Amino acid sequence: MTGMLNALPLDEFHRILDILQTIDVGLVVLDRNYQVTLWNGFMENHSGYNLSQLSEHNLFHYFPELAEVWLRQKIEAVFTLRCASFISWELRPYLFDFRAHRPFTGMSDRMYQNVTIMPLISRLGDINHVCLIIYDVTDTATSKQALEEANQQLTMLSITDRLTGLYNRGYWEECLRNEYSRYQRHGKVSTLMMIDIDFFKKVNDTYGHPAGDEILRRASAILKQMIRCSDMAGRYGGEEFGVLLPEINEPVAQLVAERLRRRIENECVLFDGNKINFTISIGLAEVTNQQTSAIHWLQQADAALYHSKHSGRNQVTQYSHIMN
Ligand code: GH3
Ligand code: MG
Ligand code: MG
Repeated sequence: MTGMLNALPLDEFHRILDILQTIDVGLVVLDRNYQVTLWNGFMENHSGYNLSQLSEHNLFHYFPELAEVWLRQKIEAVFTLRCASFISWELRPYLFDFRAHRPFTGMSDRMYQNVTIMPLISRLGDINHVCLIIYDVTDTATSKQALEEANQQLTMLSITDRLTGLYNRGYWEECLRNEYSRYQRHGKVSTLMMIDIDFFKKVNDTYGHPAGDEILRRASAILKQMIRCSDMAGRYGGEEFGVLLPEINEPVAQLVAERLRRRIENECVLFDGNKINFTISIGLAEVTNQQTSAIHWLQQADAALYHSKHSGRNQVTQYSHIMN
């Protein structure tokens, strides 16, 4: 395995050699030319090379996956500064491209590694070698990743309406307040669109609640398709939706709303052998300095929506128009 330990008494030398050979971490000693001078059992098992097979060239020749320029810099710094350096799997998942040997528990097929690079100081005080200690942290890495994924899913669930996939009311109202604050701070224009499905109770009564649910899903899917990803659409109540259109004024929002209204009018939902048509009414209100709060802004969009309802439904109303 090595010629480095030959200053020790023979039996102690063998004991240490045994420990280094069998310990469940990777040990690699490199000289100044990146020639391998120690390569323990862990490294043999995972790489398929033993020390004698690595003797002809430097380390980078046998392991092209090592980011040579980057790793040389790291190791040169250890030689120069005479202090250890640490590479976390979170910075770089692995140094050596080894397969993970945890077929039952592991999610990853590569071995994640933490690596310590240590200077080896000779009895004369020189540093001619460094030692790489390689820890298999696949279990830690995969469970941390699984936890992060689960947390992301939980966050998504906590802000999403189950039936429609739009934001739920709580989160959407938070977006509304944020958008209103942005206007107060930066004067950025934005328009609020409130949507309500017409005669929805009749749909439920005629075709049943599941048919009503399908219409809610279809309307939401169309809504999502027709807005930009920076717009924020939420389910405000049963069959009522709110959409924030940042950086869009009321006349432009009118075009967006009208396109949506017509698209829904032409949609036909096939459910349980029934062809169901439905329409929506829309109210629009641009954020202005006449409003005293986000709620006030919402009330104006609502007033415009009720105007659409009372004027015969299946239409779009701008708040500024009913005020004039
Ligand atoms: P308008 O044109 O005035 O809006 O009439 P409308 O019938 O749509 O209005 P109304 O508010 O009277 O009825 C809303 C209905 O929406 C009542 C409720 O049963 C139904 N609803 C609310 N949430 C859901 C839901 O999740 N699924 C289904 N299928 N129906 C729902
Ligand atoms: Mg309705
Ligand atoms: Mg309603």
